[in-house]
Amino acid sequence: MKLLRYGAPGAEKPGLLDASGRVRDLSGVISDVAGDALRPDTIAKLSALDPESLSLVDGSPQDDLRLGACVGNIGKYVCIGLNYADHAEEAGMPIPKEPIIFNKWTSAVVGPNDDIQVPRGSVKTDWEVELGVVIGEPGVYIDEADAMKHVAGFCVINDVSEREFQLDRAGSWDKGKGCDTFGPTGPWLVTPDEIADVDNLDMWLDVDGERMQSGSTATLIFKVPHLISYCSQFMSLQAGDVISTGTPPGVGMGQKPPRYLKGGEVVTLGIAGLGEQRSKVLPAQG
Ligand code: ZN
Repeated sequence: MKLLRYGAPGAEKPGLLDASGRVRDLSGVISDVAGDALRPDTIAKLSALDPESLSLVDGSPQDDLRLGACVGNIGKYVCIGLNYADHAEEAGMPIPKEPIIFNKWTSAVVGPNDDIQVPRGSVKTDWEVELGVVIGEPGVYIDEADAMKHVAGFCVINDVSEREFQLDRAGSWDKGKGCDTFGPTGPWLVTPDEIADVDNLDMWLDVDGERMQSGSTATLIFKVPHLISYCSQFMSLQAGDVISTGTPPGVGMGQKPPRYLKGGEVVTLGIAGLGEQRSKVLPAQG
């Protein structure tokens, strides 16, 4: 099942993508793709619905129907750093001994095809295609063996990053990760039953049609169950929390010479089975 949110920013409605790629309205069943609606009992109820029984939404998500982030009202947006050995290498940093955790402020979250705004004063706005994990069943001190029971689904994330804010300014990485529009999330939340092997998903990212990143979740250092268990040692995880699992090599910082996003460019990215994003880059406003 592919769950999504459609409509104007701030007024999105819940929907699901049917077998023919059209959007069906779920607003008579759940109020949003968010929070408790992502718990296993509700997901099971949604899975049992006949999509044909739900009204068809006008427009096409590939064309004229705006999609919001595939999860609403995200409580925590936890990101994992340097989780691909070859990306750690291009960043000139050691392979971490345990997962690096940082935070993306939830005000950064936007739809999968919304614009990316280069922040004021930015000269190093960068891209990062990532596998997102959405929590369904809440928990704390989760055993790795039980971790996948806590997953509502997976999605595509662009962990947009400002490298100067992140690395050259004092303090934590968070400064460069949570600027407005730095969290394109979606197009859809794909339930685990549709993903044969989450440890073997091809992923890619292009800037203006030029391939920058290509990788696979097969080379993740810390796998999804470990990340869920690990994060839950430091916080309780709630339904609708998102964990972004890190990026493969090919970010702008790793290009020779480094290359960063400029107004007018278009970033496209995707992960096998999870859909694609397309974001136009807006220049910094004075
Ligand atoms: Zn990242």
